Amino acid sequence: MTTIYNFAPGPAVLPKEVLQQAAAEMLDWHGSGMSVMEMSHRGPEFTSIITTALSDFRELMAVPDNYKVLFLQGGGLGENAIVPMNLMGLKPQPATADFVHTGSWTGKSLKEAQKYGKVNIAASGEAGGFTAVPPRDSWKLTPDAAYVHLCTNETIDGIEYQFTPDVAAETNGAPIVADMSSHIMSRVIDVSKYGAIFSGAQKNLGPAGLTIVVVREDLLGHALPICPSAFNWKIIADNDSMYNTPPTYAIYIAGLVFQWIKRQGGVAVLEQKNIAKAKLLYDYLDSSDFYTNRVAKDSRSRMNVPFYLKDESLNTEFLASAKENGLLQLKGHKSVGGMRASIYNAMPIEGVQALINFMQEFASKHA
Ligand SMILES: *Cc1c(COP(=O)(O)O)cnc(C)c1O
Repeated sequence: MTTIYNFAPGPAVLPKEVLQQAAAEMLDWHGSGMSVMEMSHRGPEFTSIITTALSDFRELMAVPDNYKVLFLQGGGLGENAIVPMNLMGLKPQPATADFVHTGSWTGKSLKEAQKYGKVNIAASGEAGGFTAVPPRDSWKLTPDAAYVHLCTNETIDGIEYQFTPDVAAETNGAPIVADMSSHIMSRVIDVSKYGAIFSGAQKNLGPAGLTIVVVREDLLGHALPICPSAFNWKIIADNDSMYNTPPTYAIYIAGLVFQWIKRQGGVAVLEQKNIAKAKLLYDYLDSSDFYTNRVAKDSRSRMNVPFYLKDESLNTEFLASAKENGLLQLKGHKSVGGMRASIYNAMPIEGVQALINFMQEFASKHA
């Protein structure tokens, strides 16, 4: 049988060891006689699962003590509304949030935020077809902005911040809110540079259904009156992510992924592997005149690598043939076309090498 490599953008590949452990524990978790899915979220068994998951998350991300980590539902798109509802109230109404528009995801975020306050597009990569992060010195920030929203890895466009911006001076200390859905725990980040971080779990951390928010404590308690209680970060924090039933099974799997990351040696070790994987693929793309990647070199994502065949009439054959070779879900997002290889933490370098070998063969067959 061919080895299968899954390049899906999300829900995405999970470590095989994690799936094996979940399978072994499916019917009876640690002798409890219950599946994790059947447990009370307030019982001692699940309490130990969520407590361990939270402390492993804090350890892996080196979350400072003055930040809360929240496990909730709603996904990344949910956060597009939840963030402004929680943070626009930091300033007198109507408040303004600044957005750095880098592609599909910030496009959705800024559109949603307009329902809850004013939106200023501080910089946009649209004119360049979203192929680079707008340079920091081009951003036109709002003095007294409620917050500054970034998507530090644009999953569809394949662009990623390779720097941590500082916005405090021009905004009177506005916090940065970062959508890290598709690269959280793929690289070491300094949490203290952000006011809030949010991430759907289904790219790098686990299955769909869990959303993780990391938020500085002084930003809690400023929600707009319309904010639903179940999405009010202060209420969720005060109730240790148990205000309503959290996504228990997704938290359990994410907890197993955190333990897997710890066994790998932590985020810094994975980051080195991710650098090596991305370099291998981009070096091949740059050396080929059959395939192309359009993203500026200093903005290329290590997680999501979009590429195009120069002869796009071969797209269907490329995908069918890749699938026959065990290389799955390489089709690019419909809004941008082409191909995309998502090479998250759980993708081994062997998978990237198998993809390159296939691409070479396909190119020489059609040269
Ligand atoms: C996948 C993704 C989301 C996801 O949102 P869902 O509501 O969980 O589907 C948000 N932001 C980014 C950058 C993503 O990659």
